[in-house]
Amino acid sequence: MPLLDTVVSMHELAITQNIVEICESHAAGRQVRLVRVEIGDLSGVVPDAVEFCFEACSRDTLLQGARLVIERIPARARCRTCAAQVAIRSYHDACAACGGYQLEILSGEELQVKQLEVH
Ligand SMILES: [Zn+2]
Repeated sequence: MPLLDTVVSMHELAITQNIVEICESHAAGRQVRLVRVEIGDLSGVVPDAVEFCFEACSRDTLLQGARLVIERIPARARCRTCAAQVAIRSYHDACAACGGYQLEILSGEELQVKQLEVH
């Protein structure tokens, strides 16, 4: 039975299906051995849930049995007030240097298939 909250797993289920579809179209009929996916900490996607969904989503596809490698991308931002580059945890965080809220996101919004290895 599902280990995860239903709402979360529905979200990640759709995303994982999307990942599998993208990989299948790139694989062009070849069996996929490894998939590397980047997931940013601000993307709203829970890596563990994607991992959880992957086996079911990849069944009977070119990705069946493929290894899923998830790379988490930490969230970083540049402060428009003091120009500092800071690590953040959410969109609501303030600049750690000056307390300003005018932050420009530099990384952490990624959600993409980075690499495919095929047979
Ligand atoms: Zn600042």
